[in-house]
Amino acid sequence: MAPTRARLNPALIRRLNVARVFHALRLAGAASQSDLVRATGLDPATVSAVARELREDGWIAATRATNSRRSGRPPTVLTIDPAAGFLIGARLEPDVVRMLATTLAGETCAAWQGASGASVEDAVHALDAGVEELLSELGASRSAVKAIGVGVPALMSKSGRLAYGPNLQWRDVPLLERLQERWSVPVAVDNDTSAAALAEKLFGEARDARDFVVVAGHSGIGGALYLGGRLFSGSGGYAGEIGHVQVVPGGRRCGCGDRGCLEAYLAEQAVAAQLAARGRQLPCYEAVAAAARAGDTVVLALLDELGTLLGRVIADLVDVLDPELVLLAGALSHIVPWLLPAVDRVREAETLAAHRGRCRVAASGLAAEAVTMGGIGLAMEALLSLPAWLVDDEGALLSNG
Ligand SMILES: [Zn+2]
Repeated sequence: MAPTRARLNPALIRRLNVARVFHALRLAGAASQSDLVRATGLDPATVSAVARELREDGWIAATRATNSRRSGRPPTVLTIDPAAGFLIGARLEPDVVRMLATTLAGETCAAWQGASGASVEDAVHALDAGVEELLSELGASRSAVKAIGVGVPALMSKSGRLAYGPNLQWRDVPLLERLQERWSVPVAVDNDTSAAALAEKLFGEARDARDFVVVAGHSGIGGALYLGGRLFSGSGGYAGEIGHVQVVPGGRRCGCGDRGCLEAYLAEQAVAAQLAARGRQLPCYEAVAAAARAGDTVVLALLDELGTLLGRVIADLVDVLDPELVLLAGALSHIVPWLLPAVDRVREAETLAAHRGRCRVAASGLAAEAVTMGGIGLAMEALLSLPAWLVDDEGALLSNG
């Protein structure tokens, strides 16, 4: 049967064109309209109309090129206007909230970190306070905030409802709704590791990858699967819970209620607890990394064991999903250099021969800011009213309708 070509809603096409021009300009930094025609594959009239619209909205600025050697009128160079306002990205953790303000293009302008409190109410207040702090540092008013994105260590439904956050000890919270009540700008919220994967795709090392996995660690261990050019969210939005893969049958108790989960070994507090049992008081990944750097053999032995556990999970993921890249992100990045040798050893030994040498496992370049920059990515998607993956994959629009 011939495939039916779904009819595309004109408003969606318009949003898609805006997003394509926006992302092309963001990646180029500065571009002429003909550069944008080449980068987007759109026709010159469409690029011109979108550019005019974005200039009228104040998102992009136009300057005349001065170094053109050609005679005649120098071409107009477009940039995303650094004065167009700010995106706010947040990483919410059980004890702390970390926030960044960036330009609309995602260039960091200011950072803030504060206590998040235990309740949903406290966290919502902390996010609000963070926005105020960032704006005061930037000397900007509330109207300068154009969109807000938040990554949370929790299972998030597709509708922005927090189903369960074991480390936050929150259940069934309409988190997106609560945030939308406080801000009049576009707001988005997602699982923290999904947000980190978005950041890797938009700003990080996975920019050109279609199939990659992110494992992010801090208070928990999260996973995100980016498959076939888009985030794989599963039937309920909960896919990628790599932290709850069992690595030691009957092993350490996990926050989810099970035993032996990867998270029960590799999360920050779990690493600290295992080291405390071996006579080392190292409360955070950074302190563990410092001890490893100094050659502490007790610490190095534990990190080798943890790398072996992580390596087994990654080997299974590689066998099942065949990704081109696995990025280890979040605060976990601090200890990645001492996990990688065991990870590589195990996956070399335990993956199918066909996969060997094809998948790269690396520390995220965004490191501890991966989730916060994921908040920026979510804010950018909210601003454009379009998921970033569609920009790369408009063919999916035709099949999804
Ligand atoms: Zn678990």
